[in-house]
Amino acid sequence: MPAKHKVLIVGSGPAGLTAAVYSARAQLHPVVVEGEPSSTSDQPGGQLMLTTDVENFPGFPDGIMGPELMMAMRAQATRFGADIVTAKVSRIDLGRQPFAAWVGDPEAAEPTYEADAVIVATGARALMLGVPGEDRLLGYGVSTCATCDGFFFRGQHIAVVGGGDSALEEALFLTRFASKVTVIHRRDRLRASRIMQDRAFASPDIEFLWTHGVTEVTGDGKVTGLRVRHTTSGEEAELPVTGLFVAIGHQPNTAIFHGQLELDENGYIRTHDGSRTDVEGVFACGDVQDHVYRQAITAAGSGCMAAIDAERWLEARGE
Ligand code: NAP
Repeated sequence: MPAKHKVLIVGSGPAGLTAAVYSARAQLHPVVVEGEPSSTSDQPGGQLMLTTDVENFPGFPDGIMGPELMMAMRAQATRFGADIVTAKVSRIDLGRQPFAAWVGDPEAAEPTYEADAVIVATGARALMLGVPGEDRLLGYGVSTCATCDGFFFRGQHIAVVGGGDSALEEALFLTRFASKVTVIHRRDRLRASRIMQDRAFASPDIEFLWTHGVTEVTGDGKVTGLRVRHTTSGEEAELPVTGLFVAIGHQPNTAIFHGQLELDENGYIRTHDGSRTDVEGVFACGDVQDHVYRQAITAAGSGCMAAIDAERWLEARGE
């Protein structure tokens, strides 16, 4: 028999756990399927589990470690009665009411959960280079978020990899702190919009390393340099930087919703009127529907919105 809940929350980053706090306090007894431990952001706690110091989450004047912040949010959700399950949703059916979700075997005849409302908070993952040293030094000089971590690189020479709008936006932002920013791009032409290119080219603090790829991030405990290779000649060189910002794109975690929820051209869930999706009773919050702000605090805020929207929707149906 499936376990029946009023609210099913999929995902447990700041969006999912804030939605859990709000819906638990509203006596909706939510179940949160939080994900499974992995080395990517697709895990309980989301992208903050891959960061170290968080200094821009209001309420922590001395900063807080990303994993500690997520543990605190989790404890807060549990305290009010959210049922948090360490598993991954392998299949979801949003074409029936109550909605149905499977964990484990997606072919099982019976779903694991049934829910009147679903809050999707599965987040997004930053695409990574997959080179030696990158994983090991993530949070120790390797970052995927300039807004979050730029402040730690005052007066330093840092690198940004990528040639799209994100890479240039990160590079321009980082010039506020860094002594020099080197943008490493694998081609000799940028993908970014003209206006971003013009701004980056006009900055005296940004230089470009064209047609190069990063082959290794080096450092013992923290980043001390990069090995780079010319993409055609194969010639290798060392770049002595203390930070690497990986800005080669993001991928929203929406695979299980394909064909069920309206997604935009990049795979993000489209929301309207707050957190509503195109399926009544299904709400989305956090990075899975936001490719613009991508902050813990905006994700948390949208998780609150989703919980309130779900609560009002259930109430209007007389639940
Ligand atoms: P993107 O446009 O897909 O650009 C990704 C960049 O990373 C490309 O230059 C790509 O190189 C490079 N890249 C991809 N995989 C790589 C790898 N394995 N190794 C090295 N380089 C790699 O992604 P984005 O910059 O995140 O932007 C995503 C969307 O958001 C875009 O539509 C963008 O316009 C939008 N956006 C807009 C703004 C803004 O308007 N302010 C800011 C950020 C993002 P190639 O060029 O060789 O493919």
